[in-house]
Amino acid sequence: MTYKTIRTDTPADHVARITLARPDRRNAQSIELLYELNAAFDAAARDASIKVIVLAGDGPHFSSGHDLGGDRTMSGFTPVTPWGGFDAPGAEGRQAREEEYYLGFCRRWRDIPKPTIAQAHGKTIAGGLMLIAVCDLIVASQEATFSDPTVAFGVNGVEWFSHPWDFGPRKAKELLFTGGMLTAAEAHAVGFVNHVVPRDELEGFVLSLAGRIAARPAMGLRLAKMAVNQAQDAQGLQTAVNAAMALHHVGHAHNQERFGQSIDPAGVDIIRREARGS
Ligand code: ZN
Repeated sequence: MTYKTIRTDTPADHVARITLARPDRRNAQSIELLYELNAAFDAAARDASIKVIVLAGDGPHFSSGHDLGGDRTMSGFTPVTPWGGFDAPGAEGRQAREEEYYLGFCRRWRDIPKPTIAQAHGKTIAGGLMLIAVCDLIVASQEATFSDPTVAFGVNGVEWFSHPWDFGPRKAKELLFTGGMLTAAEAHAVGFVNHVVPRDELEGFVLSLAGRIAARPAMGLRLAKMAVNQAQDAQGLQTAVNAAMALHHVGHAHNQERFGQSIDPAGVDIIRREARGS
């Protein structure tokens, strides 16, 4: 398969790497990118020679989040989840689309029965945070930051809402309430990030870590991953994620009613202003 918005390679034995490749758009996630990402994850998951999957990004930042300016219709894409009715008017179609390519994809990628490693550099914002939150391990460069400023858009957070597990409830609330960024060091301190390394050592460190994992049998790795994911599921992670998604769609529906669009338009200015530091 030829990809337009991502690149794939095999940088080491048994290691597949998927790289977000829209650096001019700060790797913003168009619907095309999400479907290409899903296809690449599936290909790596089904390739018997691959034991570990690395997710990286081109350019100065890992990902600026969803591409809000792009076309978000489903035309031209074959659904992956059992959802349908994507073109239905109102909340019905919007929920179906977001259950498919946001929550549905994140859930699929989180449960790929092979270890995944996110290689985070620069800024990881909102929808970008979802991509790395569903990876098993996260390695960050020292200047990396993580944020979910989407409360400014009048929703509770991004569609895959594992924040209480990722950051702890109190830090998750601060992150959401303020829209602020966690530095790599802070993210490491709360256990969101496994390792923090200098930017020029990031790729090598990730490949070395992937190589150590790939020395182990695929079966043991699969069982270990499932055991940990199932422990989180038993704690209620999936139920909480589903409940948060329902709230997210109350937010979208409220915004549509109030402002005629699914996000509070004032949020764009708030986020831009804070990004400029004023
Ligand atoms: Zn949404």
